[in-house]
Amino acid sequence: MYHCWKCRKEVKELDPVFVRCPYCGCRVLFKQRQPIAREVKAE
Ligand SMILES: [Zn+2]
Repeated sequence: MYHCWKCRKEVKELDPVFVRCPYCGCRVLFKQRQPIAREVKAE
């Protein structure tokens, strides 16, 4: 799963040859970070 840097839409599959957001045409995409469960002490 990727996210478009520009329009923030989710892009499930990317063409490895021509990486581009299918929605806005932005060529900057980043991998969606896995949510990391951490215990944070708010003291
Ligand atoms: Zn986009």
